[in-house]
Amino acid sequence: MSTLQQQDPEIFNLIKQEELRQRDKIRLIASENYVSKAVMEATGSVLTNKYSEGYPGKRYYEGQQYIDQVESLAIQRAKDLFGAEHVNVQPYSGSPANLAVYLAFLNPGDTILGMALPHGGHLTHGAKVSISGKYFTAESYSLDQESGRLNYETIREKALACKPKILIAGHSAYSQVLDFPKFREIADACGALLLVDMAHFAGLVAGGAHPSPVPYADIITTTTHKSLRGPRGAMILCKQEYAAAIDKAVFPGLQGGPHNNTTAAIAVALKEASTEAFKQYAAQIVKNAQALAATLIDNGFNLVTGGTENHLMLIDLTNKGVTGKVAAKALDAAGIVLNYNAVPYDTRKPFDPSGIRLGSAAVTSRGFKEEQMVQVGKWIGAVVADPANTALQAEIASSVRQLCAGFPAPGLEHLI
Ligand SMILES: *Cc1c(COP(=O)(O)O)cnc(C)c1O
Repeated sequence: MSTLQQQDPEIFNLIKQEELRQRDKIRLIASENYVSKAVMEATGSVLTNKYSEGYPGKRYYEGQQYIDQVESLAIQRAKDLFGAEHVNVQPYSGSPANLAVYLAFLNPGDTILGMALPHGGHLTHGAKVSISGKYFTAESYSLDQESGRLNYETIREKALACKPKILIAGHSAYSQVLDFPKFREIADACGALLLVDMAHFAGLVAGGAHPSPVPYADIITTTTHKSLRGPRGAMILCKQEYAAAIDKAVFPGLQGGPHNNTTAAIAVALKEASTEAFKQYAAQIVKNAQALAATLIDNGFNLVTGGTENHLMLIDLTNKGVTGKVAAKALDAAGIVLNYNAVPYDTRKPFDPSGIRLGSAAVTSRGFKEEQMVQVGKWIGAVVADPANTALQAEIASSVRQLCAGFPAPGLEHLI
């Protein structure tokens, strides 16, 4: 980046510092990852210079000789990887992908039913502050207070009562596998389309470490930058019968020109995701999450649902007498980065809730195995037990840096 360094040292220096932060800290934010150098190169390519409103073979601008091939490759790779009938790779990110689905099938005021935000649902599943909750009649289902798990009987009752046009399955903070056949049954019983938002666990599905929603869902949305380990972007997968409605909703319904550099990087990430190495990565994500979960439970932590079947964990810190925010800030000082998060039936406010959320995708990408996860769990236990102890945080931050030095992260090879 020598040109950037000369031309804009301010931004260059900030990027360099962020590189070091990503190198030296244990990143447990469940939605984050490390993309490969190849994905980064495609993202930073001249494809950013090209406008290409429309779809391959049906564009509104000339000069699409190469762009059409890039987008067609991305689509074909996504179809092959997930076994989907139709794929749209143009949504700018996960939120607009969900909005495009609503635009395709709903009128303002129509009813959607999704997981409640404080229970692990996403903003775009009908939260009051989101356009999804303002323009549509948003109903929600909750987790069982006792088990912290989905109760499919309650979802069915709610669905039959409110008759949604779209039933949404998907989450940002739920640590168990979703029962797609059950969701299908419920959607059929109430006459709804089934939308599965697999933003968080798409990488696990791609790598065979999580059941696939493809045989059950009418439409699937996903980000490409979380466990799938691609650039920031999104895709919509659907049955052929919905292809035209989805494509029309993305463009011209919601967006203008697609971000072709991102499309190319998605294609690269999908090629990576079809390898044997990616299958191992996906399986290791789950093993790592389970190793961390077991250590945390040994250290007296209260995991919502009692464990994990995917990459993420939600911890209720109430029994530790520490708030999520205090714990997250103390852990960041100790080189362990995660986010504070509401827990189901939280009695505290969203800006200072009772829990923290952890995910294992990014550390798995840099090669952590169960042994390292056990160590991370012990550090988390020590920091949360004494969150005001800044000397301890500094000491752990130094050990974290040492551990990370042995596990060079993808995309940061030039820093070794
Ligand atoms: C992250 C996420 C999104 C939104 O993705 P953005 O790219 O941040 O807009 C949508 N749905 C779920 C379930 C998510 O976890």
